[in-house]
Amino acid sequence: TTRTFTMIKPDAVANGHIGNILAMITNAGFKIVSLKLTQLTVSDAQAFYAVHAARPFYGDLVEFMSSGPIVAATLEKENAVADFRTLIGSTNPAEAAEGTIRKLYATSLSQNAVHGSDSDENAAIESTFHFATREEF
Ligand code: ATP
Repeated sequence: TTRTFTMIKPDAVANGHIGNILAMITNAGFKIVSLKLTQLTVSDAQAFYAVHAARPFYGDLVEFMSSGPIVAATLEKENAVADFRTLIGSTNPAEAAEGTIRKLYATSLSQNAVHGSDSDENAAIESTFHFATREEF
């Protein structure tokens, strides 16, 4: 099996969707191997999204992602990265397929409910960013 990393973003936490999103994740066959409710500082969010530092939306993204609690989780499944991106749907909820997490719970392109890693390598980096070894099962 392989792993991916996800965050339930501040909009979805604030809107009361943690339980429903975790249910969709487990019902889709992902095993939760790390899980916590936490909040990113501005500098945490800057570091996590450093790859987007030159993008025009970087400042708003950092502000949003540090604006309230998130749920961080590491997930295990065969083909985890690609299957999770299918489950969450397109970055822009207006383009997300029916039944995807973003179609159901995202409010806009920037407040799009969930994050999903884009590669196995980034999944490992992102999981290590959030979790100590003793928090991975
Ligand atoms: P994520 O990395 O959160 O899973 P993604 O891989 O679908 O999302 P990226 O292109 O990596 O999308 O962008 C990271 C995040 O930055 C998006 O999830 C979204 O919240 C925000 N974002 C991306 N493009 C824009 C944009 N044009 N305007 C505002 N916010 C954006």
